[in-house]
Amino acid sequence: MFSDQVDLVVIGSGPGGYVAAIKAAQLGLKTVCVEKDDTLGGTCLNVGCIPSKSLLNNSHLYHMADHKDLEKRGIEFDNLRLNLDQLMAQKSGAVKALTGGIAHLFKQNKVEHIQGFGTITNANEVTVKKADGSSQAVSTKNILIATGSEVTPFPGVEIDEKQVVSSTGALSLSKVPKKMIVIGAGVIGIELGSVWQRLGAEVTLIEFLGFIGGMGIDMEIAKVLQRSLTKQGLKFKLNNKVTAAVRSGDSIKVTVEDMKKGKTAELDCDTLLVCIGRRPYTINLGLDSVGISTDDRGRVPVNNRFQTSVPNIYAIGDCIAGPMLAHKAEDEGILCVEGICGGSTHIDYNCIPSVIYTHPEVGWVGKTEEQLKEAGVDYKIGKFMMVANSRSKCNMDTDGLVKILADKKTDKMLGAHIVSSVAGELINEAVLALEYGASCEDIARVCHAHPVSCPLYTTNAIRSHFHN
Ligand SMILES: Cc1cc2nc3c(=O)[nH]c(=O)nc-3n(C[C@H](O)[C@H](O)[C@H](O)COP(=O)(O)OP(=O)(O)OC[C@H]3O[C@@H](n4cnc5c(N)ncnc54)[C@H](O)[C@@H]3O)c2cc1C
Repeated sequence: MFSDQVDLVVIGSGPGGYVAAIKAAQLGLKTVCVEKDDTLGGTCLNVGCIPSKSLLNNSHLYHMADHKDLEKRGIEFDNLRLNLDQLMAQKSGAVKALTGGIAHLFKQNKVEHIQGFGTITNANEVTVKKADGSSQAVSTKNILIATGSEVTPFPGVEIDEKQVVSSTGALSLSKVPKKMIVIGAGVIGIELGSVWQRLGAEVTLIEFLGFIGGMGIDMEIAKVLQRSLTKQGLKFKLNNKVTAAVRSGDSIKVTVEDMKKGKTAELDCDTLLVCIGRRPYTINLGLDSVGISTDDRGRVPVNNRFQTSVPNIYAIGDCIAGPMLAHKAEDEGILCVEGICGGSTHIDYNCIPSVIYTHPEVGWVGKTEEQLKEAGVDYKIGKFMMVANSRSKCNMDTDGLVKILADKKTDKMLGAHIVSSVAGELINEAVLALEYGASCEDIARVCHAHPVSCPLYTTNAIRSHFHN
C-alpha cells in the first residue's frame, strides 16, 4: 500500500501493537504493522485473555449445573452432558471474530498489515521475512517494538502441548484430564486450573511461594481466594517446588520438594501444565544491530516517553518493564504514539488494576496492606463481607469481601482489594477513584444504586471504614 518511507512501523499486533497502530493512523501517521503469526491480536486474543475468559465463563456454567447449584435455585434437568468440542468451538468462534475484527479495523483506519517476521535492520528500516521466503524492507521514521512475551520454559520439562502443556495447550485440550498438576499457582495457573477442575479433572497446583495469585496480591485476599477455591475442589501445595517431571506412557511422575519440611514426594498425573510465568520476546528482532541491549530480565529499557536508547525506536507492552497485562500494553501503545505526535505520555502504574477471573473473581488496584506497612504509611482499613450484601445474598454468591485501604490522616484511598463474583467489574470504580485521588468520603458520598452489586459493595466497605 505505502511505497515511500512510512512514519511508523509497529512490530507485533498484540493489544499493545494493534491499538498503537490504529491510534497512530488516526493521528495521521502513515503506519505499518508487522505480525509474524497468521492472525492479528497477539497473545491476548489468540492464546491469552480471550480464549481463557471464554473457557472460564462456560466451565463455570457447567460447574454450577453439575454441582447442583442450579437445583438450589429451582432449575432442574436430567442428563447433563459436557460437549467439550462445542465448548472449544465457542471459544474459537470468539477468538476468530475478535482477531478478524482487528483486520477490519486496520483496513478502516488505513493501517497497512504486513504478515511476516520483522527484524530491525537499521534505525530507519524494518525487514520483513515472509512465509514464502521473500523479504520486504520498509523504510520508516519511527519503529515501535510491541513484540510481547512468551511462555517461560521449565528447565528439564519438555512441553509437547498435549500431555505436558503450557497455557497455550491448556486452552485446547481434546479431553478432560483425570489428574492435572499445575506448576505455578499464579494468575494464569489458577484460572486454567479452575477451568479443568470445573470440567471434572482432579487438579493440584504446586507453588514455590507461600501464597497463591502471584506477586502483587494482598496476603489477606490471597488467603480468602485460596479458601474459596479449595472449597470448590482445587488442591494447593504451597512452599513446594517441582524438581523433576518424568513421563512414562500416559502418566507423568512429578517430584515435589516441600521447602519448609525438607521432604520430597512423588505425585502422578496424566496432564502437566507448566505455568511459571512469561518472559519478554525479542528473539531475532535485530536489537544488536542498533545497539539496544535488554535488562537482566530480557526487557527492553525505555524512558518515560517509551523511547529506547535509540530515540526513534520505541517499545511498549509485555516486552518492557511493568505488569504483563493487556490493558497496560494498550494504554502504553496509545500514550507512546501520542508522544510521537508531540503529546504527553503520563501513565500512573499505581492505577493499573489486576483481575483474576476465577469464581469468585479477584480485583485489586493501588497498594496492598503489606506494601503500605513496608513503606511505613499510617493507614486505616474498611472491610465489608459479601455475605452481608443484599445482591450477593439474592444471587447466592456470598464468597468474598471488599477491603479498602486509606491514608489515616488524609482519608485518601490508597488501595482497593475485592473478592467477589463480579470483582472484575467492581474494581473499575476503585480505579477511577484512585486516578482522581479520591478520599474515601468522596466515594461514600456518591449515591450508588440499590441493590446492584457494583457500587454498593465498595461504598459499604468505605462507609464502614469512614464511620470507624
Ligand atoms: C492464558 C493467558 C491469559 C491472560 N489473561 C489476561 C487477562 O485476562 N487480562 C490481561 O490484561 N492480560 C491477560 N494476559 C496477558 C496478556 O495476554 C498480555 O499482557 C498481552 O497480550 C501483552 O500484549 P503485547 O501487545 O505486549 O504482546 P502480545 O500480545 O504478546 O503480542 C505480541 C505480538 O508480536 C508478535 N511478534 C513478536 N515478535 C515479532 C516479530 N519479530 N515480527 C513480527 N511479529 C512479532 C507476536 O506474534 C504477537 O502477536 C493473559 C495471558 C495469558 C497467556
